[in-house]
Amino acid sequence: MSTINKLSVGIRRFHTVASRLRKYVELTSVRYPLLKRGNFSFLSDRHLGFFQSILSAHQVLTDELNDLSGYNVDWMRSVRGSSRLVLRPKTTEEVAAILQYCNVQNIAICPQGGNTGLVGGSVPVFDEVVLSLELMDEVISVDELSGVAIVQAGCVLEKLETVLHLSNLALPLDLGAKGSCQIGGNVATNAGGIRLLRYGNLHGSVLGLTTVLANGQIMDCLNTNKKDNTGYDLKQLFIGSEGTLGIVTQVALQCQPKPSSVQVGFFGLNSFENVLETMRLSKTNLGEILSSCELIDQSSLECVTTQLELRSPINNFPFYMLLETAGSNASHDAEKLNSLLEILINNGTIVDGTLAVDSAQAKNLWELRERISEALACEGYVYKYDVSVPVRQFYQLVDDMRIRLGNLPIRCCGYGHLGDGNLHLNITSHEYNPILLNRIEPFVYDWVCQERGSVSAEHGLGLKKRDYMEYSKSPTAIHWMRRVKKLFDPNNILNPYKIFPEQSSTD
Ligand code: FAD
Repeated sequence: MSTINKLSVGIRRFHTVASRLRKYVELTSVRYPLLKRGNFSFLSDRHLGFFQSILSAHQVLTDELNDLSGYNVDWMRSVRGSSRLVLRPKTTEEVAAILQYCNVQNIAICPQGGNTGLVGGSVPVFDEVVLSLELMDEVISVDELSGVAIVQAGCVLEKLETVLHLSNLALPLDLGAKGSCQIGGNVATNAGGIRLLRYGNLHGSVLGLTTVLANGQIMDCLNTNKKDNTGYDLKQLFIGSEGTLGIVTQVALQCQPKPSSVQVGFFGLNSFENVLETMRLSKTNLGEILSSCELIDQSSLECVTTQLELRSPINNFPFYMLLETAGSNASHDAEKLNSLLEILINNGTIVDGTLAVDSAQAKNLWELRERISEALACEGYVYKYDVSVPVRQFYQLVDDMRIRLGNLPIRCCGYGHLGDGNLHLNITSHEYNPILLNRIEPFVYDWVCQERGSVSAEHGLGLKKRDYMEYSKSPTAIHWMRRVKKLFDPNNILNPYKIFPEQSSTD
């Protein structure tokens, strides 16, 4: 228990460091003046009275100064809503009662998990009521034999991990925000993370969901079987729906056996060609035990070591790679990793590197990768792009962007889930600068589109990327997505202003 608390506090500390540097966050409605509030009801005393009648006092927050500010601002401190009410249900039935009422009363809702989302999806744009899942944090059951865990949606990922470890099981996903993000938020964003290479995404690992629809209906699709082909697999619609189709309240997750042997290596490389060769040989030689293959460029490493005072075991390479293996036989895994390293060192692909000798060292190496987001946030405003590109072109976008931006930004860097072709391109400036933004966008989206990549590989579209959906999806696909949204949420009360670009007259 103490570990969970400490790590949760750890991630909250980012907020403190970042907020010290950038206290004021402009209202979203001011920063994006073209956004127009939908024709939703304004919160009245009558509405408040209803919520107070079905929930306990601590489940209804209205104190704007002391309670609401954290729910109105995103983790990046880049968008700020002006909600006057946060509701914190504890059961699926309470969620259902809230939604049924809001649907009839035409009250807009912003579902919120751990509020670690990076596209402005988890906070209100105007005065939407925040529906926080944070009190629904129970691990309902863990079946050691099948590896299936049933969890309430508000369970923090790291807490779930700790519980699973007691049964010798491991999560199929892991990400730097695990001390705060919730499994429901992960499902709603179809979170990827550092183990996707090994276990695939949540479309495969989620076996079942309970969701509450916009009209308050509870949809029980909490299947726990690995195979189930009885009709349409409706739960898939909610994975990655970013709170626009329904509220996820329970998740049945296929977990994995906890690996008994984990090895982590951190390497310096002189060229991107060498990075690609290392990835290729790692996939071939390590096979089923390769669990992560991450890239960090020099600028990202410099940021994390200077801003957060972390120490890198090796320095001054244009590129760094973090490789992880996870298996069940330590000597077999070490043998495989050592023979790979022998090849890579002998042919000059890897110049320098280190292997963690224990879990503390492994954790230190992982921090160099996982805390880059936090370090970048310390520099001021971050322009964040999370794209899928063919792996050969993975780094070209960073080079092209650097040339295009010259010395306008503080930094333009790239890192990410190389093994999955998922690049995190990040650009920083002291404060939000619309001139810089206009140099970056839509150039970045055109670039990705030309490569037939994805403009959002894992973070979703939220508010910030919603206008760029067409760069990765056809008009027909967007049309049918809108039809699905209309079917499930005809009054558009669930997370309005998110995912979809403004409706055009032809839709
Ligand atoms: P929130 O941020 O609260 O919400 C995200 C979206 O889901 C919003 O649209 C919200 O309305 C909706 N939502 C939340 N809960 C529910 C629910 N129960 N029902 C319906 N809708 C809901 N993402 C990755 O994919 N891979 C990474 O490697 C990764 N690394 C990160 C590292 C750091 C340091 C940080 C800060 C973020 C990172 N992220 C990453 C982004 C973020 O953590 C994920 O998107 C995460 O899944 C969000 O979970 P959350 O509980 O914080 O959801």
